[in-house]
Amino acid sequence: MSVQRTLRRATTCAGIGLHSGSKVTLSLRPAPADFGIRFRRADLGGLEVPATADHVGGINYATGLARDAVKVDTVEHLLAALVSLGIDNAIVELNSPEVPIMDGSAAPFIYLIQEAGVRALNVPRKFLKVLRPITLSRGDKRIALYPSDHFKVTYSIAYDHPLLRHQSRTMRITETSFVEEIAAARTFTFLKEVEQLRKQGLALGGSLENAIVVGETGVLNNALRFDDEFVRHKILDVIGDMALLGHPIIGHLVAHRGGHALHTAFAAQVLEERDAWTLVESPASKDALAPAGEPVVAN
Ligand SMILES: [Zn+2]
Repeated sequence: MSVQRTLRRATTCAGIGLHSGSKVTLSLRPAPADFGIRFRRADLGGLEVPATADHVGGINYATGLARDAVKVDTVEHLLAALVSLGIDNAIVELNSPEVPIMDGSAAPFIYLIQEAGVRALNVPRKFLKVLRPITLSRGDKRIALYPSDHFKVTYSIAYDHPLLRHQSRTMRITETSFVEEIAAARTFTFLKEVEQLRKQGLALGGSLENAIVVGETGVLNNALRFDDEFVRHKILDVIGDMALLGHPIIGHLVAHRGGHALHTAFAAQVLEERDAWTLVESPASKDALAPAGEPVVAN
C-alpha cells in the first residue's frame, strides 16, 4: 500500500512574483491526511484556496487559483515539485498574491521540500487510474490521457521560430526522473512578447535570472540547462497543472502545443468524465511510483 505524505517540518523561502514583480515570502507547512494542498494568504488573515481544478481562476501565462476574494497566481511550478516528491498534503502560505518565480524552474522548490523532509501519514493514497481515453482539442492544440501502468508524459511543441520548430519528449515520471530531468527546466518567453506582456502589466519581475528569453537568432541567456529545455519545461508545467486533479495519475498524458488554459480545462474535464477513471489505493505495478530518494520517516 502506498500511503499519503506531508512535510516533516515547516520551511520558508523568499523571492519575487514573475508577473507582479513584488516581493513574497513563501512557507510550506505540514498538513494532515486528506487535507490536500491549500494556498493560504497570510496577508488576508489566513484565507485559503484549495489547489483543485474547480478553483482555477485566471490564466495569464501562468495558472491562478481563486476562491471568493482570495487569489493566488503562478502556482504550477511549486505544485509540480510537491506532487512529484509525493507530497499529498501541505499548506502553502504566502504574504502576496503570487508564488515566487525563483529561477523560473521547480529546482529551488525541490531543494526546499527536501530540506523540510517528508513524513509518511498512516492513510492510503488514492491514485487516479485512467480506464479509457479522455481527449480535448482546441484548434491545433491537443491534450489527452490514455490508460497505462505508469504515469508517463509525452509533450511536443512547435513554434514559428527557427530554434523551436519542433521539440518532443516522452518520459516516465518518477520522483527521480522529475528531479534529475525536469525540475531544473526554466520557463521561457520570446523577446518580441516581452514588451507586450509589460504593457499588460505582466512579467514585471521577469529577467534573464528567471526565464529563458528567445531572441530572433538565439537565446539571450548564457546557456541552456538542457538542449531541449523548452519541452522539458512544458512537461513541468503540465505536471503542475494536472496536480489540480488532487490525485497522482496512473496513465499516459499526451499533449501537443498546450498551455495553462488547455491543461487546466482538461483537468476539469477529466474530473467530469467520472466513468473514464477510477481511484485505486495501489499502483497497478508496485514500481509505478518510484521509491523515495530520501528515507521516509513514519510517525
Ligand atoms: Zn512554467
